[in-house]
Amino acid sequence: MSESQFPLGHSENPYELLIVGAGPHALTLLVRLLTKYPVTLFNDEEQDRLLRHVKHQKGCGMVDEARKRKYLVVDEGGEWLSRWKKLFAGYDIPWLRSLVNIHPDASHASSLRDFAMMQGRLDEIKEIDDFVEKAMHRQAKSRRMNSTFNHSQSTALHVPTSSLFIDFCAHLVEKHHLNDVIQQGSVHCIKPLFDSSCNICKGFEIDRQHNGHCRKIHASRVVCAIGNGNCLRLPDWVPPCDGCNAVKWPKECLMHSAELVKSGVLYNCEGCYSQEKTQLLPTPREASKGRLMIVGGGLTAAHLVKHGVKRFDQVLLVSRSFLRVKHFDVSLNWVDRYGNVEMAKFWQESDPRIRLRIIQNAREGGSMTPSMWEYIESAKAAGLLETKQYTEIVNAIWRTEACCDCNSAEKAKGFWEVHLSDGSIENVHAIWMATGSKMNVTQDPLLSQICKSVPTTLVEGFPVLTHDLRWQSSVPLYVMGGYAALQLGPNALNLAGAKIASERIVEGLETEMGLGQAHTDDGAAVVGGWANRYKFLEDEDAC
Ligand SMILES: Cc1cc2nc3c(=O)[nH]c(=O)nc-3n(C[C@H](O)[C@H](O)[C@H](O)COP(=O)(O)OP(=O)(O)OC[C@H]3O[C@@H](n4cnc5c(N)ncnc54)[C@H](O)[C@@H]3O)c2cc1C
Repeated sequence: MSESQFPLGHSENPYELLIVGAGPHALTLLVRLLTKYPVTLFNDEEQDRLLRHVKHQKGCGMVDEARKRKYLVVDEGGEWLSRWKKLFAGYDIPWLRSLVNIHPDASHASSLRDFAMMQGRLDEIKEIDDFVEKAMHRQAKSRRMNSTFNHSQSTALHVPTSSLFIDFCAHLVEKHHLNDVIQQGSVHCIKPLFDSSCNICKGFEIDRQHNGHCRKIHASRVVCAIGNGNCLRLPDWVPPCDGCNAVKWPKECLMHSAELVKSGVLYNCEGCYSQEKTQLLPTPREASKGRLMIVGGGLTAAHLVKHGVKRFDQVLLVSRSFLRVKHFDVSLNWVDRYGNVEMAKFWQESDPRIRLRIIQNAREGGSMTPSMWEYIESAKAAGLLETKQYTEIVNAIWRTEACCDCNSAEKAKGFWEVHLSDGSIENVHAIWMATGSKMNVTQDPLLSQICKSVPTTLVEGFPVLTHDLRWQSSVPLYVMGGYAALQLGPNALNLAGAKIASERIVEGLETEMGLGQAHTDDGAAVVGGWANRYKFLEDEDAC
């Protein structure tokens, strides 16, 4: 029986490439793989020349359809960007935090802007307010103490709306026919298969669960693109709810932000991504629901405040450090044109422990954008929000006895008695935790098993991957997103990190799958310097 008679995914006919996760990182990688003349390899002039050349060559398309049929993407949500969409709709985030030139299309840096122009939606790209002022301040202070800031040196930074970004991604999915490669399911185990004679990893067996059924799928290479993983970071004070003597509280009275998004509690049914200033006053139907405590000091905490003030009488935001205000989740020097200098310093550092410190310093914990900070201030001024900074929760006890400030509905439920590090005690009816994810491969449901079967060097839960982001040089499991931070730097989880990760993974796959050979006969090979330039000119003359 020939190999092709086995269904794809069978051990005798494995997928060439299986990607776990269909978020923006997976999309960036696939689009990069299917883009023949990526912006990273060819400048504008070369691209124009190549595209002109390609136009004259019949059948020389951008996508290798035959090859793509052997790719598979598995995602819990069953559609592209399912988690991202839920997140942005749930928190009602109108604008991206990242710049308009950072997006999943590998063909051109200005693709997203061009898309906005074609759609007549240029008003969905805005310049970041006061960025120039910040640059002036920084430059005057640190780089040229005696010189004035020259506006012509500044490149204005622009961000797109969430809906423009999502529509652009949908356009890419359609353009590259990527709905053909996606399947719904949850991957629970990635088992490497070794050649018994020479101990070489010859592929993987994957457990895909869907609708209560588990199916084994075989793939020669796997990419793990699961964002910041699947482990919630729960503070130590969170009481165990499974102890036999533990007092149970209703689930909705203690929730992590990811659970709030997943359960749909936050979903903004009046229309996502409202660009209007958030309505501050709670509607009568939603009011009188007691007190809410939100734990955390980052952008997610700020978005939860937006929802909290609509659902509760009073919101208390508790953060262990001060509330940082930043346009980006990394320091400014990692974003603007000095960013490359910081990245170069990062890559020169070979000690992964020092790299981790650099990442931690660059991210500085959570931060919120100036517009969300403005919102927080206005909620405080309206008496809807109180903040406690430099404060930690020491202990939280669920009480079911009567609380004097409660109305009858809340009395029936109970309340949290929260002991804070400043010595105060707060009674609240619900706690929402914006405490992020715990990045530790040994505890991640998807990767914990491979940590045991193919142990690799770890630094505080982050794997030390190869340059092309493989688990190990002999194990073609590629990792992108937060878990690749030690190789990619502080932007690993962001869209900017997806770009670098894709380049590196494609580099690895090109060698392994012989993808580069596809270019040998066309203009890319000539412009790219791996074929005869005179042949190219000859062909062009003939056209
Ligand atoms: C509030 C907020 C705003 C943000 N804004 C920005 C921004 O503006 N710009 C920016 O660059 N970054 C932003 N980020 C960071 C953002 O998380 C990442 O850029 C992006 O989501 C990472 O993409 P990803 O594809 O790696 O992960 P995700 O978007 O999380 O996608 C991973 C996918 O994997 C799937 N998955 C996970 N585990 C499994 C499994 N075991 N089996 C099957 N499927 C699985 C999930 O369903 C999910 O769809 C923001 C983050 C937050 C929290």
